[in-house]
Amino acid sequence: MFLTLKKGATRSQLDYICKKVRKIGFRAHISRGAKKTVIGVIGENAILARDIFESMEIVEFITPISKPYKLASREFKKENTVININGIKIGEKQIVVMAGPCAVEKKDLLIKIAREIKKAGAKVLRGGAFKPRTSPYSFQGLGEKGLKHLAAAKKMTGLAIITEAMTIDQVKLVEKYSDIIQIGARNIQNFDLLKAVGKSKKPVLLKRGIATTIKEFLMSAEYIMSQGNYKVILCERGIRTFEQSTRFTLDLNAIPVIKKLSHLPIIIDPSHGTGVRDYVAPLSKAAIAAGADGLMIEVHSKPEEALSDGPQSLLPKDFCLLMEELKKVAYAVGREI
Ligand code: PEP
Ligand code: MN
Repeated sequence: MFLTLKKGATRSQLDYICKKVRKIGFRAHISRGAKKTVIGVIGENAILARDIFESMEIVEFITPISKPYKLASREFKKENTVININGIKIGEKQIVVMAGPCAVEKKDLLIKIAREIKKAGAKVLRGGAFKPRTSPYSFQGLGEKGLKHLAAAKKMTGLAIITEAMTIDQVKLVEKYSDIIQIGARNIQNFDLLKAVGKSKKPVLLKRGIATTIKEFLMSAEYIMSQGNYKVILCERGIRTFEQSTRFTLDLNAIPVIKKLSHLPIIIDPSHGTGVRDYVAPLSKAAIAAGADGLMIEVHSKPEEALSDGPQSLLPKDFCLLMEELKKVAYAVGREI
């Protein structure tokens, strides 16, 4: 539940309530708006403690949160969350495009790709230094060397960096080099990892698991938020269905559903969602039309030589053409790129 306080609540009144919340075994999350201060009382069956707070003079009213995810729910926060990464705002009018190779490979190649995607209008450079691969014999990523290449590309282009942390041990390292920490589809329910990035100050991009319901997806976001990190960006990247003609089935339903259930921004990854280069453009357009806040697109200058996901990677020139088309779609739905 959350407690909306009367205007003019003092620091000591806030402290008193928060202490009480913790004493009865719940967590207190304060959100101080321009007009009102709201305290989230978070925990299982928190509503049962309603009477304790109802009798407090400073509490104006109490609102129960019916969903199992609390901090992530639209009930808890009506306005869209906007995540600001050095001026790049995710969750506002602008559609933020993240692009780059699946895996970080050679430094020069990464810088070349970074320059091209920047010219085309992307704001964030993606690329894995730690790669979750189905086969242990496939390229596993360059590790810290890859992170250093990303840092070099950032220095040359000014692009923000997103890269994946696969384990708790990698979080500190990834945090050091990146602007956004990516949690991959396979780690969606690695709860200890979610808690670890929940303690980070950096925004987290959480990718939906291949067999995760939207409710489970939001529960995973809740894990991160429950540790104090509210900067969560959701990413739909395709789920497994009976359909075999694409690598996964991109669930665009997730966009309006999540917009209804949550205040968090949602972006779409049509590269992993389809696994096929030719389908990336139509699904990128559809995602923007359906209300996505951003896109994550794999781009490689030599996809035939890519160490992972070449078949779904766009050539820089095709990415550039796509960005031009996306501008028109964005404009048609009141957004911009
Ligand atoms: C990726 O974006 O590099 C990736 C591995 O994606 P996912 O976790 O969605 O499979
Ligand atoms: Mn990939």
